Amino acid sequence: MRLGRIQQNRPLLENILTEAGLRREQLIMPLIIYEGRKINQNDMIPAAVPDCEDDIFRFIYNGLEAGIRSFILFGVPNTRDSKGSGASNTQGIVQRSARRIRDEFGARVLIITDVCICQYNESGHCGITNYNNKYVQNDATLRLLSKIAVSHAESGADIVSPSSMMDGQVYRIRRSLNENDFKNVKIMPFSAKHSSNLYAPFRALAFTNALKRRPYIDKSSYQLSYCNQREALREIVADINEGADIVMVKPTMTYLDLLPMIRDNIGDFPIALQLVSGEFAMIKAAAERKWIDESEWMVQSIASAKRAGADKVITYASLDIARYLS
Ligand SMILES: [Zn+2]
Repeated sequence: MRLGRIQQNRPLLENILTEAGLRREQLIMPLIIYEGRKINQNDMIPAAVPDCEDDIFRFIYNGLEAGIRSFILFGVPNTRDSKGSGASNTQGIVQRSARRIRDEFGARVLIITDVCICQYNESGHCGITNYNNKYVQNDATLRLLSKIAVSHAESGADIVSPSSMMDGQVYRIRRSLNENDFKNVKIMPFSAKHSSNLYAPFRALAFTNALKRRPYIDKSSYQLSYCNQREALREIVADINEGADIVMVKPTMTYLDLLPMIRDNIGDFPIALQLVSGEFAMIKAAAERKWIDESEWMVQSIASAKRAGADKVITYASLDIARYLS
């Protein structure tokens, strides 16, 4: 048997994506919103938006025009405190932005919000820490996460995305949402979030001034080890049992082997994959040196995520990918 067609014609990028089964509405575009107009410029990832109505709206208009409906908001506030209490402030950066987006775009957009405290506290950890910032206190963090999730729901979030990897976070958030009449708000936890240096470009953007002296934060006591497949499955199953509506695995490109295993165990339950900032930056950097073709590599990375079984893909390349498809 000869499969000569594979060598003969390089198919259009659109065809590759269509063959892999990707539709524009499956893309989720990240927005990292900065409080105040001062942005920590970082050309490794293009998602930084100043806290200004025009800029945020322009981002969303571009996405909508390309056929993207879902946007996930990350907030970078001006100030931090020891407990990350700003994260649940109803006038906080994510809450304010979600309200503005809902007012402007109504039901045309699906608003997803990142629920964590590491952009709001002094330690940079995803949970409340003890006095010397050494240990994360799981149960004390759950109360705050629930409060943050409810404040996001009040501001118009359709889906809240707890990313702190605390045990029991989905259950506690589901309970609080239900108690506050937000039964329709869904939960997409960062279920299998691996401890990885691939988040470095995002951290360079989000962890400004206050944490400059501490560029490395060891989160391995609550994020997953990339050496252990079964641990990822356990986290996924626990989140589903606690009431998650979509589960998520991140990063993507070096974790694709997990998807078939997870799929075998959870049937058609929706799975999202996030191509994280480091994965995006590697493609950008190599393309800048003309070592690889940027568009084709971006498309390959998304196609492989789809091929492995992702139902949703969160990527900083959403806009380009959606435009290839349109
Ligand atoms: Zn976090």
